[in-house]
Amino acid sequence: MTGHAIVVGGGIGGLATALALHRIGWRATVLERAPGLGEVGAGMSQAPNALRALAELGVEAEARAVGVPTYSTSNLRRPDGRYLQRARPGDTTPLLGLHRADLHRVLLDAVPGDWLHTDAAVTDVRQDGDQVTVTAGGTEYQADLVVGADGIRSAVRTRLWPDAASPRYLGRTAWLGVADVTGVTGDLTGSVTMGKGDLFLIHPVSRGRAYWALLTSERTAGVRYDDEKRTALALAGDWHEPVPGLIRATPDQAVIRTDIHELPPLSTYVRGRVALLGDAAHAMSPDRGQGAGHTLEDAVVLAHALATEPTVDAALGRYDAERRPRDQATARGARIDGARTASRAGQRVLAAMVRLVPAALWRKGIAPDGNPTWRWEPPKLPVVPPAR
Ligand SMILES: Cc1cc2nc3c(=O)[nH]c(=O)nc-3n(C[C@H](O)[C@H](O)[C@H](O)COP(=O)(O)OP(=O)(O)OC[C@H]3O[C@@H](n4cnc5c(N)ncnc54)[C@H](O)[C@@H]3O)c2cc1C
Repeated sequence: MTGHAIVVGGGIGGLATALALHRIGWRATVLERAPGLGEVGAGMSQAPNALRALAELGVEAEARAVGVPTYSTSNLRRPDGRYLQRARPGDTTPLLGLHRADLHRVLLDAVPGDWLHTDAAVTDVRQDGDQVTVTAGGTEYQADLVVGADGIRSAVRTRLWPDAASPRYLGRTAWLGVADVTGVTGDLTGSVTMGKGDLFLIHPVSRGRAYWALLTSERTAGVRYDDEKRTALALAGDWHEPVPGLIRATPDQAVIRTDIHELPPLSTYVRGRVALLGDAAHAMSPDRGQGAGHTLEDAVVLAHALATEPTVDAALGRYDAERRPRDQATARGARIDGARTASRAGQRVLAAMVRLVPAALWRKGIAPDGNPTWRWEPPKLPVVPPAR
């Protein structure tokens, strides 16, 4: 079966969907509300499951070429610099650190350019039998299928899932940045440092840069400071290097502040010929580093279902049945992990557990085959001549 899909949103999810559709011989129109296509934001890590999804999309090598191995799950530290766990010389890591913009560019380069429409904010989605009509900037587009990949505040979801709960604030906020590491001292191979209920994450990314994120508790969402960088330094400026070094090396205006929300579980990802994907379907706490990874998985599974089921309806039914339980289980786990690391007591328990677990067992837990989420294997997309 082939057809034409409208993909709402040109983020990682929208582009991965367009690329997956391209690989199965479908056509797609990607509608992005921003005036240009590109990712703002800082860095991220991608785990083996996500890298396998990228392989199925045909861009794993390109992603690896713009990424750097990160040892963030191997190196657990205290604010005074002590290691609770530390990678040994010769240890490998299954995680790839990337700048968001680099991953986005890899996907963008692989999608046919004439599929992409910017300045196209979707304001309406209507269904009539087997056709779906989308309105964006005064223009109407029709297709056999619409994929809402328009993020946590999805307009597609708001329009067609009026009963769905709104995103929920998880009581945590984060400062993020990407710094040039020239002159920054300390272990820059990737780490997580926990202290006082706060958490500092480091992933190296390409071109001599490192991504950092400082997560802390904040009772209400939307609190902002005149000088976000100084506020981050007030929290972690006396932690071990490279923590203060990375914050200082980030240009003031490049320090991003984001409040952590999740989407309460949806009862379905599919309404008629419309499917939700990525953060529009399952925005989750970042504590397992899996939001974008599961978004890439969604794209591959959706395309596989479309390529192998006899009808769009059957394909969407399978997509929902395969993706929702996995996405929602990971989101639940990420929320629990986040709540644990956001409290001093939770951090103490975690530190005690890490001390008690023999190093060999810990290493097994961070091996690709030791982590159930990372073990995911993508379905094989059939190879068909690409549609243009
Ligand atoms: C602090 C933090 C750290 C994270 N770290 C990681 C990590 O290490 N690894 C990982 O895998 N994930 C991570 N994530 C999760 C990851 O960022 C998201 O899961 C991922 O970006 C979701 O991609 P998406 O394309 O679904 O949504 P988005 O990135 O939100 O993209 C949605 C797109 O839709 C567009 N859009 C919105 N509304 C409309 C409209 N009406 N019409 C047209 N276009 C529209 C937007 O402009 C945007 O381009 C992290 C998240 C946070 C908050």
